[in-house]
This record gives sequence, C-alpha cells and structure tokens, in this order.
Amino acid sequence: MAESGVRRGVLITGNWKMNLLRAASRELAASVVRALAARRSVAGGSGFAPPGAGVQVALAPPFTAIDVVRDAIRGSGVLLAAQDVAAAREGAHTGEVSAAMLADAGVELVIVGHSERRHGQGETDAIVLDKVQRVIEAGLLVTLCVGETGAERDAGRAEEVVARQVGAVVSRVDLRRASLQIAYEPVWAIGTGRTATPEDARRMHARIRATVAAAAGGEAAQALIIQYGGSVKPDNAAALLAQEDVDGLLVGGASLQAASFATVVPSW
Ligand code: PEP
Repeated sequence: MAESGVRRGVLITGNWKMNLLRAASRELAASVVRALAARRSVAGGSGFAPPGAGVQVALAPPFTAIDVVRDAIRGSGVLLAAQDVAAAREGAHTGEVSAAMLADAGVELVIVGHSERRHGQGETDAIVLDKVQRVIEAGLLVTLCVGETGAERDAGRAEEVVARQVGAVVSRVDLRRASLQIAYEPVWAIGTGRTATPEDARRMHARIRATVAAAAGGEAAQALIIQYGGSVKPDNAAALLAQEDVDGLLVGGASLQAASFATVVPSW
C-alpha cells in the first residue's frame, strides 16, 4: 500500500470474465454486498470511503449482466465495472459496445487492455490507447492492464515490456484530468495458480510508478493506484497488499465466490 503520508486508497476489482448468466450474476453481486457488509460490521468501520481515502470495491460482470448487477449493488458503494469497451466512439462496429453506452448503462469503471484481450484478441498498444481515450471522454474511471508474458520474463524483458505498455498510454493522456489506475498482471500468473512473489510485484510496481513519473510528473505518479492481478487468493492477498506501491488487487477466479472475494478485501 502507499507509504505513510500518501493517500491513494485501495481498489479491489472482481473480474468475472465470461462467466455467469444473469440470475447467477445477480445472486453473486448481492452475496458480495452482504459479505462486505458483514466484514464491515465486524471491523467496526463506517463504510466505503471516497476514492483516495479508503477501500473501494468494483465488480466487472459480463455485459449481459451489467443491469442486474447495477441493481444488486445500488446504494452499497460498490463500483460497477465493465471488462472492455470499443475503441471507436460509435457507428458501424458490429458487436462492439461504446464507452457512452457503458456510461448510459450505469458503468463507472472500465477495464482496458486485459491480457486476454491483448493476447487473445490481438489488441495492440495503439488499440488500448484508443480505448483508454474513449473511456476518459465518457467521464468514467479506467483501469489499464499491463503485464509481460512468461517468455518475455524468461528473456529478461519484463520491465521493458511493461514500461512500453504503460508509456504508450500515460505519455498520451493527461493524468491530471483522467481517473486512471494501472493493474500489473503478469500474463504467466493469470488463471494459472502461479502468483508473482510479493517482492516481484513490489519491484514492478515501483518501476511502473517511475515510468509514470517520467512521463507525467511525480505528483501524478504518487496519486496513481497500481493494482496487482494474477491468481490472487485469500491466502496471498494480504502479503501482496502489504507491499509498498501495491494499492489494490484485480481478482479473476477468486471473485466468482462471494466469500473468497470478500476475504481479499482488506478491512477499512
Ligand atoms: C484477471 O482476470 O485479471 C485475473 C488476474 O485472473 P485470476 O485471478 O484468475 O488469475
């Protein structure tokens, strides 16, 4: 988390990927809200704090369940997120969903550049930048995912690849006007059960923050929330979050069960 004196807050996002039909999505969202409320009353806290001052939780259901999840989390303080967005603003793009459509549906945060999009769907840095810009134009929060593949890490290129992915966006976006977070998700750790060590995560997060500082200045870099993602589970979440520069978690598999997801959310 942030070193003392810096108030970045903590963001925990559940990415449900292409799982759950509408009824199951509604039930999971309601269960997450109940589980968080139960933890909050145990912890004696006063609820979710505004961004930058406490712990925020976001849920990213599939597009088809956005409305039922929106209704299930209403009033809870949990943020409604989308897993992707179109690179174009509108028009003849069959099958795509625009940032304005997401905003219209009540979405507050959009995940962009997930490795399953970069590597599964051929998204380049340029496409990712376009998507980030569309989300910012729509006035939504954006989580930019970055991360190296196993082959890139083995070749000693992990930091270079991640710095390139970060630089491609932060050098083209005014971070003073954009609500952008970064999620470091080493591709070899996503859905594999392999997690980066807390020290691996700390080192890469520090590198990301330095890259942002070089492109956008120290103030923007210090204010930036950097999440870690990749096989986060209840038994490794606390050690990851204890690292300086690790300001949150992006959780895939473990977010599909309310109890395990609520357990990775730190007390507030
Ligand atoms: C993810 O979906 O971004 C992710 C990190 O998945 P998992 O936690 O299952 O590795």
